Amino acid sequence: MSSAMFGSCRPSTGFAMPDPSGTHRQLTGWGRTAPSTALVVTPTTTDELIAAVAAAPARGVVARGLGRSYGDPAQNAGGLVVDLTRLSRIRAFDSGAGLVTVQAGCSLDALIDAVLPSGWLLPVTPGTRFVTVGGAVAADVHGKNHHRDGAFGRHVESLKLLTPGGDLLELDRSNRLPELEATLGGLGLTGIVVECTLRLRRVETSWLRVDTEPATSLDETIAKLEAADRGFHYSVAWVDGRAGGKAFGRGVLLLGEHAAPAELPAGARESPLERSKPRQLQVPTWASAARLIEGPALNAFNELRFRRTRPGTELQPLDPFFYPLDAASEWNRLYGRHGFVQYQFVVPFPAKDVLATLLERLRGVHPSLVVLKRFGEEAGPLAFPIPGWTAAVDIPAGAKGLAAALDSADELVASAGGRIYLAKDSRMRADLLPRMYPRLAEWAGVRARLDPDGRMQSDLARRLRLVAR
Ligand SMILES: Cc1cc2nc3c(=O)[nH]c(=O)nc-3n(C[C@H](O)[C@H](O)[C@H](O)COP(=O)(O)OP(=O)(O)OC[C@H]3O[C@@H](n4cnc5c(N)ncnc54)[C@H](O)[C@@H]3O)c2cc1C
Repeated sequence: MSSAMFGSCRPSTGFAMPDPSGTHRQLTGWGRTAPSTALVVTPTTTDELIAAVAAAPARGVVARGLGRSYGDPAQNAGGLVVDLTRLSRIRAFDSGAGLVTVQAGCSLDALIDAVLPSGWLLPVTPGTRFVTVGGAVAADVHGKNHHRDGAFGRHVESLKLLTPGGDLLELDRSNRLPELEATLGGLGLTGIVVECTLRLRRVETSWLRVDTEPATSLDETIAKLEAADRGFHYSVAWVDGRAGGKAFGRGVLLLGEHAAPAELPAGARESPLERSKPRQLQVPTWASAARLIEGPALNAFNELRFRRTRPGTELQPLDPFFYPLDAASEWNRLYGRHGFVQYQFVVPFPAKDVLATLLERLRGVHPSLVVLKRFGEEAGPLAFPIPGWTAAVDIPAGAKGLAAALDSADELVASAGGRIYLAKDSRMRADLLPRMYPRLAEWAGVRARLDPDGRMQSDLARRLRLVAR
């Protein structure tokens, strides 16, 4: 299909020169594995962005946000990486209707700051606020409310997409739905998201009422999560990934609802929408707790965490509830020079036994953190969530036997009709992809229409053969 059929709205200002401050930089994902070097350009205007993309070398181009994907989707060895974080303005905010139009490099953190005082919040947020809107679109991120509200993309009203051919396309549900759906979860491979219009969630306060409930076994954790999804907007379980025997799968559920003004402590009722953002602890750049994380100290920590948890209800400000890991900056460095892998899979609800088998197998590589959650609806052809159980498992990359354990886990996930989250992957085999993502060919067809020469490229795209050239 020609670009004219997409209704190009290329700006009339012509091309500016590519950002002269482009530098060759070594990049990794948040897991700090699989580094590669690319030319990184940081445009400050849409025209600079268009010019940079037009001048991309043969190795192609990919966008990068805040680098919070764990693996290699925002890297492009030997090619161009366009850093979107200077294109971060809020273009329009309708505080009556809760609609915001924002440049793709805006962080979720800055977006919350802009809309919360008017009583609006993100409809879906991942577990860190240091993600750009473009990154949230490209991974179609999910939050603790996926069972109720779906993923980020469900709340996107429209997108402005820059194709590698230089066209700026408007995508919405009535106009170019396939292109929109292929971009939501499309890992930046359909083009560069320049702007996004998002429908926000109405809130009366910046606080959450949080129920904490321990569960002594995997069966109990599962049963309590099933029940909680009917009653709570937000639900997630921390699971002790190292405990065996009768304690296998024990966990702590965190269940949240937005609090009403009348529930707030007296001091907070005056300004119920105020955001008390905690200061981040700095992790010294030399710090490495890899030995502690890998060793028995973490088993003791898990034991303590589990034993000290009492069931109860408390009010929490939004940041510690949604973003507990943001309490420390650069905590990923604690894993030392090998970095770490976050293995996140989903298996359909009927495959509950497979979930247990996977957690048991992964126990053998001593995970440092396991988070369990239930997903609701399925979305775009390359989006990760399907109705089922999802677990995100952090494992030090230096763990003995890790490669074999994850390869066998991949097989099990694929055989059960499940899939792994590509935004967090850095090592999966390409041949498993069509089994995990049965709508892959449909996605590839739309992608090829938007980028017939295969100029959108990334380390992940080459590794998983996502882009034909
Ligand atoms: C602590 C932590 C917790 C997390 N919790 C969750 C969670 O609960 N749920 C969840 O779904 N994810 C979660 N993530 C993963 C994270 O939300 C996603 O990987 C997200 O894509 C990162 O956004 P980013 O801005 O850092 O993008 P990057 O990591 O820089 O890039 C990610 C992908 O987005 C593409 N991209 C970025 N900007 C654009 C653009 N403007 N146009 C087109 N493509 C673009 C890149 O090409 C790449 O493919 C978590 C990550 C961390 C570190």
